[in-house]
Amino acid sequence: MFDVIVVGAGVVGPCVATSLARQGRKVLIVEREWTMPNRIVGELMQPAGVKALKQLGMIRAINNIDAIHVDGYYVSYYGEHVDIKYPDKSVLNTIDTDPVPGALKDGSEDKLESDSTLDIAEWDNVSTLRGVAFHHGEFLMNLRMICLEEPNVTKLEGNVTDLLHEGERVVGVKVGNTDEYRAKLVVCCDGIYSKFRKELYHEKQPDIGSYFVGLDLVDAQLPRKNHGHVILGKHAPILVYQISPHHTRILCAYRSSQLPKQKEVLEYLRSQVLVSLPKSLQPCFEKALQAEKNVYKSMPNQFLTAKPNTVPGLICIGDSLNMRHPLTGGGMTVGLNDAVLLGKLLSTVSNDELLDHGIMLEKMLTFHGERIPLDAVLNTLSIALYTLFAADSKYMELLQRGCFGYFQRGGECISGPVGLLSGMIQRPGLLFYHFFNVAFYSCYMNFCDRGILLSPLALWENICTLAIAACVLLPYLVKEML
Ligand SMILES: Cc1cc2nc3c(=O)[nH]c(=O)nc-3n(C[C@H](O)[C@H](O)[C@H](O)COP(=O)(O)OP(=O)(O)OC[C@H]3O[C@@H](n4cnc5c(N)ncnc54)[C@H](O)[C@@H]3O)c2cc1C
Repeated sequence: MFDVIVVGAGVVGPCVATSLARQGRKVLIVEREWTMPNRIVGELMQPAGVKALKQLGMIRAINNIDAIHVDGYYVSYYGEHVDIKYPDKSVLNTIDTDPVPGALKDGSEDKLESDSTLDIAEWDNVSTLRGVAFHHGEFLMNLRMICLEEPNVTKLEGNVTDLLHEGERVVGVKVGNTDEYRAKLVVCCDGIYSKFRKELYHEKQPDIGSYFVGLDLVDAQLPRKNHGHVILGKHAPILVYQISPHHTRILCAYRSSQLPKQKEVLEYLRSQVLVSLPKSLQPCFEKALQAEKNVYKSMPNQFLTAKPNTVPGLICIGDSLNMRHPLTGGGMTVGLNDAVLLGKLLSTVSNDELLDHGIMLEKMLTFHGERIPLDAVLNTLSIALYTLFAADSKYMELLQRGCFGYFQRGGECISGPVGLLSGMIQRPGLLFYHFFNVAFYSCYMNFCDRGILLSPLALWENICTLAIAACVLLPYLVKEML
């Protein structure tokens, strides 16, 4: 009998297990594969994710893995580009940065250390916030190591095949179809392909809008060092970011709601992606295509709006609760901030009270409400930006061009959107404001292009553009806010 069973040791599982163990609970963490995974997910963490790792006392998970700090984004659009810097550190005064109770055991677990790639004196001295990029597998192994160092944590390797029920209540897990483990609370962190989110969602399946195809570039020359690169054009958006001194990840969006066929993907990468890349990246992309012809990786880009955790004895968190388009790199940030929130809310609940559904339901409704500002911003932004950046119609192309033009204006037109994207400004109203500013700016650019003579045509196009902008943003924003 454990106090808590955590299913899954991906990004969120070890963080939840650690914070609950540090609060004095006996935790069992079950993972089917403890060896280092090799995936193309979770490689760029936004500043609000870094902040959450500090609150959890697990920031050193980004140490000694050749991580590369990220200062912001470089967005290129048909050969033009804009630089987008992450917000000033002063924004930290506007959001919660307090540690999870019990998370800092010796008071220093929220401090990064210098290593072969991260210089902490320099990190502390810059005025702007930083994100970080790394090999996902190495980051995960560090998270797991920190978690397993906790005396209250027990590790188990195995596939959780079922949840144990007593009436409506989840009371434990079945591992490998045979062994049964019981606990007062089961926290499900089983990720993108979650087997157990159906307890909460019943029939609802996540929406798949596109795929990301990922390749590894060796010794790539990026136009802007220490920046995530977003390359826009006729093709679906392309993301490029350095994840270690010699390795750079390229993720190419592929418009399809079904697993793409290899031949079609390779043809797309050669005919559309290669020619759209900055010249300095083309040689290593060609090499990667040769080397990875048969082994490039692809992942579905899914969207799932969170529901309140109302099942007695069970909490879903991380991708099992909620997913967004990975274009904006917000998944780990949402998951880690949820782990912070959960740790804080449960810190006032005794082990016996974990069994009290009334108390837990109240906590879970608070959890749902308090996570909305960040979650609604990052999730809605991800899908809105993907829809614009993957423009597949005339009006979307107008919005895409308007969005780039809006960034080119600088000032508030950059600081607002990047504050939202970094997870540091958690105000859905500001997302609404900037999105519709982009839409009106797109209309203004269209009027200027069409000129006086074609202004009736421009008026009609602008009405359609505004209507489409509303259809892109509002349904997602409203769903996320409920
Ligand atoms: C293509 C792509 C790129 C992405 N890039 C980024 C990015 O750059 N930045 C970012 O912040 N986010 C990114 N994300 C999202 C991010 O990867 C996820 O939000 C994050 O990994 C979620 O963490 P998690 O712990 O919920 O799930 P996961 O990290 O997926 O972990 C789930 C764990 O549960 C284990 N598990 C599953 N089922 C069972 C079972 N039945 N029994 C035992 N163990 C089980 C799995 O083995 C796994 O270890 C990306 C997503 C995609 C699809």
